[in-house]
Amino acid sequence: MKILVLNCGSSSVKYKVYEVDGVNQELASGMVERIGTKNADLKCSCCFAHDPRCAARMFGEPGKLDVPDHRAAVNMICDLLKSDHCTAVKGIDDIAGIGHRVVHGGEEFAESVLIDDEVIEGIERCARLAPLHNPPALLGIRACAEIFSGKPQVAVFDTAFHRSIPEKAYRYGIPDVLYRQHGIRKYGFHGTSHRYASHEAAKLLKKPIEHTRIVSCHLGNGSSITAVQGGKSIDTTMGLTPLAGVIMGTRPGDLDPFIPLFMIKEMKMSVQEVDEALNKRSGFEGICNHHDVREIEELARAGDEDCQLALDMFAYRAARFIGGTVMALSGCDAIVFTAGIGQNDPYMRARILKYATHMGIKIDPERNSRNERMITTDDSEVPVFVIPANEELVIARDTAAIVGVRSKKPAVA
Ligand code: AMP
Repeated sequence: MKILVLNCGSSSVKYKVYEVDGVNQELASGMVERIGTKNADLKCSCCFAHDPRCAARMFGEPGKLDVPDHRAAVNMICDLLKSDHCTAVKGIDDIAGIGHRVVHGGEEFAESVLIDDEVIEGIERCARLAPLHNPPALLGIRACAEIFSGKPQVAVFDTAFHRSIPEKAYRYGIPDVLYRQHGIRKYGFHGTSHRYASHEAAKLLKKPIEHTRIVSCHLGNGSSITAVQGGKSIDTTMGLTPLAGVIMGTRPGDLDPFIPLFMIKEMKMSVQEVDEALNKRSGFEGICNHHDVREIEELARAGDEDCQLALDMFAYRAARFIGGTVMALSGCDAIVFTAGIGQNDPYMRARILKYATHMGIKIDPERNSRNERMITTDDSEVPVFVIPANEELVIARDTAAIVGVRSKKPAVA
């Protein structure tokens, strides 16, 4: 069964096509960037990779494409897949369903769902909690409804995996009415990634996931650390929004809650300015004027003290959250690292895990430097795994499962 997976951001649409039946093979992937401009870009790596000029011949020079909106971007992806050159699918009819990454499912969605009008309304209601993320997903869903007329679509929510977090962990110590009437609580994010990483870790442990306690560290441009007990999230570091927890590329992570008020009351900053400072100019960017960890590490090695401090702060805070997560689980069977930094950066992993030597964790420097699946020595008390993130595969599998069930149901007369 072939599934198209779409991840719609505010100015980009990423796509992947999977063959899901048993093999889970990635057939094609790509992205349209700078949507809403006349210098948009289309990158694809599928059959077109053999002749990169194919896409250019179809649409024009990359970097100079006129892509006014998400509908136009989805149309381009559809045209690519329909084209004679495309060996990934034999036309659009070959695609059984479309899976969408949706960031916020609020308290409404505890699992992936087949999209209908009611689900669209639910995603719209949750947009209040993710104003930057849910609206582009809705644009993608609506575009697909028109372009792939009638093909089943499935929404897979970043927050859904965290719906198992108990109330003692998801409630904040603030007036009850703020939760009851306004939904202010911890929701958590990166759920699809934590779900994948923890399931892969259970396989490596050769244990049923129901009998595992796993610390899942998704460390990328956005970072979160999750306590996964028996395959279910019981706590995570992000909260109402993806600003909480670990220090990130441009977001601060945990703060004294009075800080934004101080910025408004004492520094006379507008709400808009505070919003921008916390979303775009904090974290690594705020500390050392760079947000890409590869660049920061290079500059730190060359002696840049701000970059050295930023890396120190990141490693220290990540370690502190891992410690808290181990306590939440009353121990752990494995620690997993995933996402850009987590799966590629031996130096940062070693720095973080230095704080965990008292737990009997022993890093094997060779295994770590090669980003091997297990980066600890055979006699380490707790194994540490590196699992490359694959959220799209989870979305494809969920979509195939839901579409498969739907197609087996007898048609309603
Ligand atoms: P993501 O959001 O998962 O794409 O992760 C992006 C972050 O991962 C950026 O800060 C990158 O600099 C970082 N990253 C990716 N590859 C490496 C690497 N080989 N070494 C260090 N950091 C990396």
